Amino acid sequence: MPKIKTEKKSRIHNEVARQGIMFNKDFGQHILKNPMIITAMLEKSGLRSTDVALEIGPGTGNMTVKLIEKVNKVIACEIDTRLVAELQKRVQGTPMQQKLHIMVGDVLKTELPFFNVCVANIPYQISSPLVFKLLLHRPFFRCAVLMFQKEFAQRLVAKPGDKLYCRLSINTQLLARVDMLMSVGKNNFRPPPKVESAVVRIEPRNPPPPIPYTEWDGLTRIAFTRKNKTLAAAFKQTSVVLTLEKNYKLYCSLHNKTVPEDLSIKEKVEEILKSINANEKRARTMDIDDFIQLLLAFNKEDIHFS
Ligand code: SAH
Repeated sequence: MPKIKTEKKSRIHNEVARQGIMFNKDFGQHILKNPMIITAMLEKSGLRSTDVALEIGPGTGNMTVKLIEKVNKVIACEIDTRLVAELQKRVQGTPMQQKLHIMVGDVLKTELPFFNVCVANIPYQISSPLVFKLLLHRPFFRCAVLMFQKEFAQRLVAKPGDKLYCRLSINTQLLARVDMLMSVGKNNFRPPPKVESAVVRIEPRNPPPPIPYTEWDGLTRIAFTRKNKTLAAAFKQTSVVLTLEKNYKLYCSLHNKTVPEDLSIKEKVEEILKSINANEKRARTMDIDDFIQLLLAFNKEDIHFS
């Protein structure tokens, strides 16, 4: 054992010596090294000199220092204390120091302060929860320009009928306008990740659509679990029927309504789907308006998804 330990130590030492600090894969640390891509991301963010910008995972600060030049204040949230120290060192004693506020910790567990714009090359493993944390954040921000794994980015912007169209696509697009900005190859990062990357712009719809998001999320979860099947089939699954029945009974008791003795949720659901000609539809080709119509039809009959 001691031998392995020494070997590991020397490997880490070499790595540290070569790149200044060791990057930690668990934190998705892939530093964006191409300055042209950093500049392009900042340009596409429409930054104003009065803005408060949020950066998630600033790392060693390659983007941070350029961002600081363009806005009034940067709030940077970083989980790795070694990198926090690096970043602090980089701005210390310069005018940048006053404009940078570092929050140390996991962004998913941190209550975010007010910000106008978010720009970041994020750790890819938190992509999905981060997108929804941002989209449900209030007050609204103007836009976010974020680097993602390419396939995730393609899912975000996918339209009905596209191969990658999924619950992520429709849930995001309910709450925001999303645009694919550019593809970014592996070699623009150090160390290069295994996957290709892409930058997406996300602009929250403000005001938001008048749809309760948890209801919406519950409905799209059911429909997209079997996105190639018909809605009739998706809603016939036992687990779905049981959940909807439980929700229905709870709703009735909360609203002083009597549950019919011969209640069959299965039949009720079928009737609702037929009434709007939706039983033969499939999630993979349905757009936001189709789902809004579906949700309203269910809710009108006291069927809820949350
Ligand atoms: N933006 C930098 C670094 C990108 S690497 C650049 O492009 O150069 C991803 C960064 O996110 C790393 O600094 C990593 O430590 C940080 N990170 C990983 N998980 C995080 C989390 N949950 N919350 C905040 N920061 C995180």
